[in-house]
Amino acid sequence: MTVLVFIDPARPDGRIADADAPVLLATDQGVTRGDGIFESLLAVNGAPRKVQAHLDRLATSARTMSLDLPADDAWLRAIATAVATFETASPQQPDEHGNTNVILKLIVTRGPEGANSPTAWVQASPVPALLAEQRAKGLDVILLDRGYDSTVAARAPWLLLGAKTLSYAVNMAALRHAHEQGADDVIFTSSDGHVLEGPTSSVLLAHIKDDDGTPVKRLITPNLDSGILPGTTQGALFAAARDAGWELGYGPLLPADLLDADAVWLISSIRLLAPVTTIDGAEIGTAGVRAALTAELAALLAQTH
Ligand code: PLP
Repeated sequence: MTVLVFIDPARPDGRIADADAPVLLATDQGVTRGDGIFESLLAVNGAPRKVQAHLDRLATSARTMSLDLPADDAWLRAIATAVATFETASPQQPDEHGNTNVILKLIVTRGPEGANSPTAWVQASPVPALLAEQRAKGLDVILLDRGYDSTVAARAPWLLLGAKTLSYAVNMAALRHAHEQGADDVIFTSSDGHVLEGPTSSVLLAHIKDDDGTPVKRLITPNLDSGILPGTTQGALFAAARDAGWELGYGPLLPADLLDADAVWLISSIRLLAPVTTIDGAEIGTAGVRAALTAELAALLAQTH
């Protein structure tokens, strides 16, 4: 079951469209060129999480590629219509915490070729069961070279590296490559050897002791100016972790830093916090520490909005 709500100036709460019928022009540049942007977020018990952070990142992506965006109010109304319509048409089973979850995608394309009018809509759909399984079981990950160096984003803004564009074919190809190797997911590295991000996630690592054995609580993520997408989940978790007494740090990180960590996670708005069990076959930390830290940070993440 999928619900689509198009943003349409003639309908303040959005225009509901039949997801099983053709609704885009074949000349839409989102289709013909992958020319557009999107956001994915979770609605929990009907409330979209971190919605302003997602609208702000959508606006940054739009600015990066000179795309006109509907106003935040139009998005909020369309989101409300999409969630209400979805929950009525397809009531979800509560998860292990008694919450219902819906995936929301906010999508904007440059619109039909020759017209100067972006197409914008909200899609509501169920959360795949695989994501909860991955959170419970952990991920076998491989490192893959993304082919750009870690300073290219500032030098070549036309590569749109910090924007969440619709051109995810490369990210999906990397995931297929990982699955063919028997792995679950990917961590990209830059051509100069830095740890970047997953194809649909941010990378996070934790240390619970220093090199001399002194207990610490330290979370580190790759530096945000290395051509990665600034994760809204990483941002929210860092804010909650700081309040809970964790030290926070940013890269540059090398693959050796991942292997040396007490735990590594792939995190995103939909997947939440999925622990990495192995990287290129090498185990990260121990099962006990991974599980304890995952439970601690997941509880912090659940408190964020
Ligand atoms: N990096 C990439 C490439 C992504 O596609 C995503 C999410 O889809 C993220 C990071 C994590 O972002 P967020 O936490 O805002 O979902």
